[in-house]
Amino acid sequence: MSTLHPTLQPMYETVLRRNPGEVEFHQAAHEVLESLRPVVDKRPEFVDASIIERICEPERQIIFRVPWVDDSGKVRINRGFRVEFNSALGPYKGGLRFHPSVYLGIVKFLGFEQIFKNALTSMPIGGGKGGSDFDPKGRSDGEIMRFCQSFMTELYRHLGEYTDVPAGDIGVGGREIGYLFGQYKRITNRYEAGVLTGKGLSWGGSQVRTEATGYGTVFFVHEMLRARKTDFDGKKVVVSGSGNVAIYAAEKVAQLGGTVIALSDSGGYIVQEGGIDLDAVKELKEVRRGRISEYAEKRDARFVADGCIWDVPCDIALPCATQNELDESGAGALVKNGCIIVAEGANMPTTPEALRVLRRGGIEFAPGKAANAGGVATSALEMQQNASRDTWTFEYAEERLHDIMQGIYGTCAMTAEEYGMPGDYVAGANIAGFIRVADAMLALGVI
Ligand code: NAP
Repeated sequence: MSTLHPTLQPMYETVLRRNPGEVEFHQAAHEVLESLRPVVDKRPEFVDASIIERICEPERQIIFRVPWVDDSGKVRINRGFRVEFNSALGPYKGGLRFHPSVYLGIVKFLGFEQIFKNALTSMPIGGGKGGSDFDPKGRSDGEIMRFCQSFMTELYRHLGEYTDVPAGDIGVGGREIGYLFGQYKRITNRYEAGVLTGKGLSWGGSQVRTEATGYGTVFFVHEMLRARKTDFDGKKVVVSGSGNVAIYAAEKVAQLGGTVIALSDSGGYIVQEGGIDLDAVKELKEVRRGRISEYAEKRDARFVADGCIWDVPCDIALPCATQNELDESGAGALVKNGCIIVAEGANMPTTPEALRVLRRGGIEFAPGKAANAGGVATSALEMQQNASRDTWTFEYAEERLHDIMQGIYGTCAMTAEEYGMPGDYVAGANIAGFIRVADAMLALGVI
């Protein structure tokens, strides 16, 4: 890892000491602190008020037992988490992840990223994240429902439309949000629609929330292409994952004239040079909850179980699965094959070593906290509709999302220029997000 500004190094060491073994959180904190080098000199008042130390320490961390009964009658125990990281700009906002890899370090890294991402949207939302080490794979609907009900039976006391507003993430989609909201409503006896986002369209959800993260990532890339005086037309795009973010990123790429030639899941990847049939992928993943290998069984597509999706030659790569999925060798393959843009639909999918390789190879890079902010921005639009008892059309909600993504792109590009690093969207996103939160924290005093 590169060395930090001498003022920032001891702050990073405190993060290491206070959060032992939480390597993903260390990685996320280092990346932000690295970008703050020019801010320390330009805005010494942030250092004087210990804003950076305060931002690295969550306001509240909740860890709880989640007992539930499986279909065979056996009692199972999982661990639940909610890290309420920063509420300077509004109620804590950020998704819930259900995946066996979840532990405090993952939740903290995601919550930390969320603070700056949410600030970049310019909406009034703070940062938080939560989840459980529960593995939904292979579980029946009844088991998922009982788990969600038990999870919410503890979590509800920490939530509220003015306090903390979760949404989905890996393993938490519309079905899970429904069960979680049902239990919240039952316990509190309140139809408090604004307490969760990602709700179904018939009971308080917003048009475009399902599509928002993927669509937003592609709108961001579209702005990068426009700056290069080109567009998606004829471009080959590789998208990792085949979950919510990946599917809708792929859909928007196709709508804008690009061709998505590869998708994946944790079992491997598929390649179809003529373009992947997205309706078939939606049916496979959203309805049948099947494996991506099944797609290749009936089509003119190749399934690769033991390989790296980044070896597939492309113009644009969109990592949309999970953290640290694009490593040094994957980045090397993208450079070698002439890729021009990498944009993160997932949170922190690119390792620091991979990022260095991409930069050296001249690939333009969009960090997740800017490129995938469309999801949380549309969640804030859902909260806005809930508060005014209003429902917007698909077209209007998509237009709002498009405007927000253009705004985030503009903010990142302008801030990077202002701080002497034109084209460095990582620095632009980290600095712009940080300053918005830091200014609010200064105004609110020592709390
Ligand atoms: P999802 O619907 O659960 O899909 C996740 C996809 O990634 C699946 O195809 C999954 O494959 C794959 N995946 C997950 N963990 C993996 C691992 N360890 N190794 C290989 N593949 C893995 O989740 P999602 O909502 O699309 O989220 C994807 C990413 O976007 C995450 O980083 C999330 O934090 C980020 N994000 C999501 C949103 C949102 O609105 N949903 C917003 C901002 C950022 P399997 O099914 O085989 O596990």
